[in-house]
Amino acid sequence: MQQYYAEVLLPLPLYSTFTYHIPDEMVGKIKVGYRVIVPFGRKKSYTAIVTAVSPIAPQGYEVKDITMMLDDYPIIRHPQLKLWEWISEYYLSAPGDVYKAAIPAGLKVESETFIELNNDFEENEENRLNEREIIVCQLLDHNGRMTPAEIEKKTGFKNVEAVVSHLLEREAIIISEKLVERYRSRKETYVKLTAIQGDNNAIHVAFEKVKGAKKQETTLLALIELSGFTQKATPLKEVSRQELLERSGTTPAIVKAMADKGIVEIYKKEINRFRYNGLVGGELPKLSEAQSKALDEIHRSFISHDISLLHGVTSSGKTEIYIHLISYILNQGNQALYLVPEIALTTQLTHRLQRVFGDKVIIYHSKFSDNERVDIWKKLLTSREPCVVIGARSSLFLPFSNLSLVIVDEEHESSYKQQDPAPRYNARDVATVLASMHGAKTLLGSATPSIETYFKATSGKYGFIELSERFDGVKLPEIEIIDMNLARRKRTTTGTFSERTRTLATEAISRGEQVIFFLNRRGYAPLARCKQCGWVPKCENCDVSLTYHRRYNQLICHYCGSTHPLPNICPACKDPGVDVLGYGTERVEDEVETTFPDVKIARMDLDTTRNKDGYENIIDDFSKRRSQILVGTQMVTKGLDFDGVSLVGVINADSLINFPDFRATERAFNMLEQVAGRAGRRQAQGIVTIQTTQPSHPILSFLKNHDYKGYYEDEIDERKRFNYPPFTRLIYIYLKHRDNDTLTELSVIYSNKLRELFGNRVFGPEEPMIGRIQSLYIRKIMLKIEVNASMKKVKAILRETFEQMHQNPRMKRLVIYYDVDPM
Ligand code: ADP
Ligand code: ZN
Ligand code: ZN
Repeated sequence: MQQYYAEVLLPLPLYSTFTYHIPDEMVGKIKVGYRVIVPFGRKKSYTAIVTAVSPIAPQGYEVKDITMMLDDYPIIRHPQLKLWEWISEYYLSAPGDVYKAAIPAGLKVESETFIELNNDFEENEENRLNEREIIVCQLLDHNGRMTPAEIEKKTGFKNVEAVVSHLLEREAIIISEKLVERYRSRKETYVKLTAIQGDNNAIHVAFEKVKGAKKQETTLLALIELSGFTQKATPLKEVSRQELLERSGTTPAIVKAMADKGIVEIYKKEINRFRYNGLVGGELPKLSEAQSKALDEIHRSFISHDISLLHGVTSSGKTEIYIHLISYILNQGNQALYLVPEIALTTQLTHRLQRVFGDKVIIYHSKFSDNERVDIWKKLLTSREPCVVIGARSSLFLPFSNLSLVIVDEEHESSYKQQDPAPRYNARDVATVLASMHGAKTLLGSATPSIETYFKATSGKYGFIELSERFDGVKLPEIEIIDMNLARRKRTTTGTFSERTRTLATEAISRGEQVIFFLNRRGYAPLARCKQCGWVPKCENCDVSLTYHRRYNQLICHYCGSTHPLPNICPACKDPGVDVLGYGTERVEDEVETTFPDVKIARMDLDTTRNKDGYENIIDDFSKRRSQILVGTQMVTKGLDFDGVSLVGVINADSLINFPDFRATERAFNMLEQVAGRAGRRQAQGIVTIQTTQPSHPILSFLKNHDYKGYYEDEIDERKRFNYPPFTRLIYIYLKHRDNDTLTELSVIYSNKLRELFGNRVFGPEEPMIGRIQSLYIRKIMLKIEVNASMKKVKAILRETFEQMHQNPRMKRLVIYYDVDPM
């Protein structure tokens, strides 16, 4: 019989696919896009995705059999595999890493290690267990089979592997691998009549059987009504037990009794958690003249360009234009994807879109549970219905069937770039690739486009549409730069606030208006220091000082998450005077509370938005004016729409302006212009105060005049002069190692090797601003490539170099990864 082999992709950071033999009984059934379970390594099993099937046997090694098929239909759709391939190729990351990022965890069955007691084991003289080992054995005796993680959690032991391996040596335990499916489908109970629709005789018999049992009779009537049994023209409706009980006011026992009599049948049915919410849409918003004109221009520009930029100032009404575009797409029966840079933004947007599109709106992001995400995935996989998906980065990977429009809102946002783990992709750029694979159009939107995008738009590569006035003619906010050095000399500051900011806030509050304070730092204070000797507590794993969080009364490392108590006594000089310095959002909130004791204040940062509804509650409260002052990090700068805000206070612009990176100016301008854009969106012109110790910094004068073009001209000159994007492409190569000296040596060897190949396109190695994270020292090598050079070739050379260098056994412990188009 002809033998067949499958190429499969494993969810591991490996650079190739693997070949497995297809057992006879699966031949003809397994196809591209199916999930299969395969053995890999000594004991493990993984969910792999079939990428090809072939009758050609691989030569030179023995192939293992596929263990199991998980699907009877492909769980991905064309062109998803092609998109994964593109990402792994372009961003120099392993295909397995892309697969891992793309598929919800619930679709990846994996084997897990389980530990259980060996009942034949007897403790004797030679076989004495120590205390920790005894504790573990007792635990296993009590609980039966457990995973190492569970044991760790229950015992609190740090290094449970050591204990386990000792126990294994003594044959006190047995270890096994078991497949674990994380996805749980939801089943619901349904009830139906055993009588066939139209069989009136059977119904009479049923009523005979419940005679005298009042509750059964009520239930029978309810079921007949709910299922539409008597309406012969329409098919029977399925009735859930829940629905039936609610209608009849009876209990499951009653229904069970009726089933025992053979009147009804109880059955279970798998339910997709993603349910259309039954919302019906409403009318499209009427566009202003400027908006209609922009909409027309977008339609026209799509004729000649696959990608277009909508540059519209803050609050110009870009969202309403998107809504019109989406409506056009849905009416054609197609699908649209609406990408936002931050989950926080989905909340407001969902409401705005649902008002128009009802239950055609689907939301997808990482705060959904695994099960919910799988259900949304399956929904899209099995239907071709028109819909609009609102989502963050990961929604790019959904199985769209007929995508015809992708909107990337706030396209300049650096949070579109995934930093860690691999693949380090930019969702905005991948979105354009996804769109082109579907033959769809991409609309990039922003009030402060990225330098690269604006360059492409003004040089004709992208279509370009401008909207330069706010909706309803509201003026852009007035910007006041406040010199904090001067204010401090005059002693007019209180805490972190200048007198001017405080006065404006007091006035706004007394008029019943709202205020936003922005600071790009979370926690209470970014630094602790001994007053006596200047000692500063630092993280032991990373080269950073620790941030003090008052809520937990702990010093926390923002890079590795480790926590430490704030010492009462300085460990260096034994003086009891360790102080905290500087401001984070927690401290600003505190100060605001003291200044405005009767005002309701909310704070939005990473610490207050950890759970799924975190954002929703804060944003909802502020929108409905249940809170009057909002303190927050960059989360408050992005496209949120609040109509009562008349003042935005930027607490400290210095740290934004002074970042040592070629994108610092761009990032600072965008962030400040965006946060300013939250002011005065509806009624009169708003005010923005920017507190800084560098009031004459050029970027601030561009901001003052809302002069995007001026800033752009300045910045693009700079980029050209120093050969930065968009005039070159950058690849950062990161090298990490536990030992600093070894790293210094190896990174020089590596960069010299690259210099042989790329000449003066190679810069570094240099130590990045934070030179050590999680106990690994870091070096960065920068590669600047001409825009017209073949990136394919560059990447092939990089891969080859990597292979060669890894021949050197010392390189084995070196961690290397790439950041293509770094942000
Ligand atoms: P942008 O995304 O450009 O910052 P938005 O789309 O959020 O601006 O619009 C700003 C405000 O103006 C919103 O509150 C929005 O509801 C309102 N708005 C914009 N266009 C219209 C319209 N055509 N009809 C009614 N309200 C509109
Ligand atoms: Zn000290
Ligand atoms: Zn740390």
